[in-house]
Amino acid sequence: EREEKFRLLADSMPQHIWTADTAGNLNYFNRSVYDYSGLTPEQISKDGWIQIVHPEEREANAAEWLKSVSSGNDFLFEHRFRRYDGEYRWQLSKAIPQRDAAGAIQMWVGTSNDIQEIKEQEQQKDFFISMASHELKTPITSIKGYVQILQSTYGKSEDAFLKKSLKVIDKQVLTLTRLISDLLDISKIKSGSLVLTKTEFEITAMMQEVVTQVQHINPDYLFSMSGNTAVVYADRERISQVLINLLTNAVKYSPNSKEIIIKSFIEDDQVVVSVHDTGIGINKIDQEKIFERFYRVEGKDERTYPGFGIGLFISSQIIQRHQGKISVTSEPGKGSAFYFSIPLIN
Ligand code: ADP
Repeated sequence: EREEKFRLLADSMPQHIWTADTAGNLNYFNRSVYDYSGLTPEQISKDGWIQIVHPEEREANAAEWLKSVSSGNDFLFEHRFRRYDGEYRWQLSKAIPQRDAAGAIQMWVGTSNDIQEIKEQEQQKDFFISMASHELKTPITSIKGYVQILQSTYGKSEDAFLKKSLKVIDKQVLTLTRLISDLLDISKIKSGSLVLTKTEFEITAMMQEVVTQVQHINPDYLFSMSGNTAVVYADRERISQVLINLLTNAVKYSPNSKEIIIKSFIEDDQVVVSVHDTGIGINKIDQEKIFERFYRVEGKDERTYPGFGIGLFISSQIIQRHQGKISVTSEPGKGSAFYFSIPLIN
């Protein structure tokens, strides 16, 4: 009776539900799996459940599943399932091991949810970001050019208001340009077309250039740099971009303490660059999330600090593509230290 009750429960769920034995063999599917796939229990047991999965995801799917079964860690995977009419739709599958009192795995219980619409919306959003940033690039480049001409023409003018206005426009155009190129980078990361152009260069020379540049825009902050130098083989532009981002954040989130310390040191065949500030800091929960796309810390001051929450995401992607690491330590009210490492040339 109890089994009948649970079967009824599982069969009335719109999600796909399945179970597996300790060796990872799937041994039960609810009705929704048969309705969706149009397959009979005999067909599934003959050719396996993997026949429903899109051929492009089969290999990774089987590998991930095996990994979970052998490690006992939860299974989480996105893949397309073939519907009875031949259409593939995206699903998010999750499986959790059920353990006995002693902690030994007894079986696995899994669910798959249709995420096709979420996927499509995400694609539309990515497409929009890509289009919008491309379209914004041309006018902003033109404005930038004209501001430069105006500055060189009227830079020595007596008109203080004119000079100040041009300076403000120049600074704001720079902010806009950064924002647009960040959005373009987001699109590149999403489509997998963020290419690295690696060369050999000395890390401290690059750091010095970046610090000078950021110091120029923020004359009331004190930047001090020290540490060991090393030659790395990396994308100089991209690594500079990461450092600019960390320094700009250090300034932005330290409105009342103006000292920023930049260090470089060698650790385990890696060169580590750190940026310390004594600003507002970040609490533990947020520290784990700030490297995610569009993540911003929420709080009463949130509007005081402009931004999109994409700088650290781009930085972490750049560092990951260099086989490096990026991390943060911080204490609210005391300040933050960001670290990134890239392998030394060997
Ligand atoms: P943005 O600054 O545009 O919001 P980022 O991706 O650069 O985006 O940073 C994500 C979030 O991490 C920020 O919104 C901020 O809350 C937090 N953060 C980043 N750097 C610092 C810092 N140096 N001090 C305090 N908070 C920071």
